[in-house]
Amino acid sequence: MTRSRAVLRAAEIDRAGVAAHFPPVTDSDNLQPMPSPDPDHAVSLYVPLVAAPAARKEPAFWFAFQRTEIIVVNGAASPELPCCRDLAEHGLVPEQSHYLGLYRGRHCYAVAVPETGTLPAGWSRLGLRDLFGMVETTLAALSGRAWQLIEWDRDHRYCGRCGTPTVPRADERARTCPACRMTSYPPVSPAIMILVTDGRRLLLARKKAFPAGRFSALAGFVEPGETLEDTIARETREEVGVEVKNVRYFGSQPWPFPHSLMIAFTADYAGGEIRPDGVEIEEARWFDPERLPGLPGSISISRRLIDTVAARLRAGRNPAGDG
Ligand SMILES: [Zn+2]
Repeated sequence: MTRSRAVLRAAEIDRAGVAAHFPPVTDSDNLQPMPSPDPDHAVSLYVPLVAAPAARKEPAFWFAFQRTEIIVVNGAASPELPCCRDLAEHGLVPEQSHYLGLYRGRHCYAVAVPETGTLPAGWSRLGLRDLFGMVETTLAALSGRAWQLIEWDRDHRYCGRCGTPTVPRADERARTCPACRMTSYPPVSPAIMILVTDGRRLLLARKKAFPAGRFSALAGFVEPGETLEDTIARETREEVGVEVKNVRYFGSQPWPFPHSLMIAFTADYAGGEIRPDGVEIEEARWFDPERLPGLPGSISISRRLIDTVAARLRAGRNPAGDG
């Protein structure tokens, strides 16, 4: 399968008038908690593009990172992303820059600024996880995309096969080695999340790394050669010793720490005694939907999965939502 994609140039988008369909940006526009990205919502606000406009006169959005944190302007109610013609106007000269496309009709750039640069008055840095709870879903998703591109670019300056410095491609998001032609693309690592139910009970597990009292659904990375169904069967067997059936898709969420795509499912319990593996999982048990333990924060799809399934069970409905 080829990785080549149809690439629209920003100028073509402008000519097509797409930008004109986006509403103007206002300070408090669309601010809401971020349960997890809503794909329909994201598509309506963001047009992904690779080739930057040759000349740009109007202000752009800057997804600017210093070290591991994103730079924000302290707004009246909540932090906002810098929106200006050029960050250099504010004394910040990017070390690397990636054009992201159009958000609400404005050009967007992911940039890394020098670690020692001083921020203008009223600007500050914020952890990505903190930002996720403060801005609307598309901006949160774009911030995660920006961070992943910066990290990938930084880690692939040299060819992993022959050591030659790589060069960015103009026609797609990739870096190619001029000596051996090896091409690298920003990686995405799929991981599954599975919430197992048995009648009115749901199975939650405690990882050793969790804060005290917190439980969540089971999760694990997809291994080479596996289908998602294989991963679900392996992870539930390995982590807690149970078998599952009637696997149903729930939803997905990009998670830029470092570059995962979490794909969430529900499943029915099909057999086996709960037996935590003692390595990754230190405790696992059935919970009544009326008496849930401490759960992950609301920005993660795990919380949306557990909240949704628990609400369905409390209402006497099918945990997969279709009965
Ligand atoms: Zn090479």
